[in-house]
Amino acid sequence: MKKFDPATELNKLEQFGEFGGVNPSITDSATYTFLGAETMVDTFHGETEGCFLYSRHWNPTNKYLSDALAAMEGTEAAWVTASGMAAITSAILQLCNSGDHIVSSVTTYGGTFAFLKYYLQKFNIDVSFVIPTDLDAFKNAIKPNTKVIYTETVSNPLLQISDIPAMSKIAKKCGAKLIVDNTFSPMMISPYKLGADIVVYSMTKFINGKNDCVAGAICGSLEYINSLIDLNTGTTMLLGPVLDPMRSSSILKNLYTLHIRMKQHSKNAQYLSERFTENGTKVFYPGMKEHPGHELLSSMMNKEFGYGGMIAIDLETKEKAYQFMEKAEKAGVGYLAVSLGYFKTLFSNSGSSTSSEVPEDVQKEMGMSPGLVRFSVGLDNDIENTWELIKNCL
Ligand code: PLP
Repeated sequence: MKKFDPATELNKLEQFGEFGGVNPSITDSATYTFLGAETMVDTFHGETEGCFLYSRHWNPTNKYLSDALAAMEGTEAAWVTASGMAAITSAILQLCNSGDHIVSSVTTYGGTFAFLKYYLQKFNIDVSFVIPTDLDAFKNAIKPNTKVIYTETVSNPLLQISDIPAMSKIAKKCGAKLIVDNTFSPMMISPYKLGADIVVYSMTKFINGKNDCVAGAICGSLEYINSLIDLNTGTTMLLGPVLDPMRSSSILKNLYTLHIRMKQHSKNAQYLSERFTENGTKVFYPGMKEHPGHELLSSMMNKEFGYGGMIAIDLETKEKAYQFMEKAEKAGVGYLAVSLGYFKTLFSNSGSSTSSEVPEDVQKEMGMSPGLVRFSVGLDNDIENTWELIKNCL
């Protein structure tokens, strides 16, 4: 079987603007006119093609970006949202009713963890949390009312690797849907091709890569995406987290350089991980042979994009982590900031920032040291020099 290549699939798309523009036009309209009243009614019922009704439902510019993401993921369809959290929460709420149950990996982005652990209590949706690498724990946590299995391909911040084909089997067996957050590993991993039902993204990160906006995406079957925008029961249609078309247009242009950026992020992260290891600093990077998820990731990945741009180092205490980060920022390594996927290196202390929603005892249980510093490695041309700067700060 021919290998799936997300970058080539994306590049096959031909989307033109008015007057033959090489970039699709921006439709900055909230509503759309009809020449026939009947056509409008048919459009309401989803019975017309190429007609748009109202931009909370579909906007042509959002459709261009969604089609590009669907091509990249190998899904039938996609829908773009105003943030990654909008994608995650809408994707879950569309599948779960009051009284349902979710099995989720415990090491997820802090906002996702808070939504699953605290917010869903409002709707009487129960969530069991398990270690992402423990497949038996996933199996054992399944209940008759389990509707969703949720995980991140590469977990935040410990970079544990989820076995997507195995999780897909567990989900299929119990009739649940497998939702995978692939924010850390676009292009590198194609979760839908590995058996996930739904792939969600924070496009704020690598996909856009410019840190100039927040945005998200949901990719899946046409039936599922249409269910999200159903006029009466669709979560995104009714809660309304639609992405602005101006942003869709700029993200679409950035998407076309993602494959090159991912290769450079990976190359730089691999280099730094090797230097950290030589230096005796404890490092988490799935590109290292010693990483427990290395072989699994190697078996699932689209190889040419590398092992990703995220690494974490363990400096043992919060005090040491703070001291290091302040020095590193001053030295010009990058910025002390949350988020990831930027062209400059960003670093933060996970326990007190992006994972601060996770209670300390849970952080300990999942193996997260208080001195963990997560790096989103940038596109530095001279990574050897960056290492010299880092070394002086350690
Ligand atoms: N998923 C992951 C893995 C993240 O790291 C984040 C944010 O940091 C999100 C989702 C949420 O995305 P957004 O901030 O775009 O809502």
